[in-house]
Amino acid sequence: MVKGRTEVDEQKTSGSLLSWYCPNCGNLLRGFQSTDGTIRVKCDKCLAVSVRKIMSRRHNRFDVFPKEGEETIAG
Ligand SMILES: [Zn+2]
Repeated sequence: MVKGRTEVDEQKTSGSLLSWYCPNCGNLLRGFQSTDGTIRVKCDKCLAVSVRKIMSRRHNRFDVFPKEGEETIAG
């Protein structure tokens, strides 16, 4: 039977596909949110790894890790 369906639907939130622009070069990134609320994506344009953490509905945090041996372009 379909009992307990709501539980499954709630868990689906952690695993949703999110997209944003690379803070380093502006390329469009897509990543899946993990259970701890972070999304880690490697940009295929500048190869920087950006980690997005959803702290709350009104607070998103981005951490950018440029390709080894390089510095961030922005700034
Ligand atoms: Zn990039």
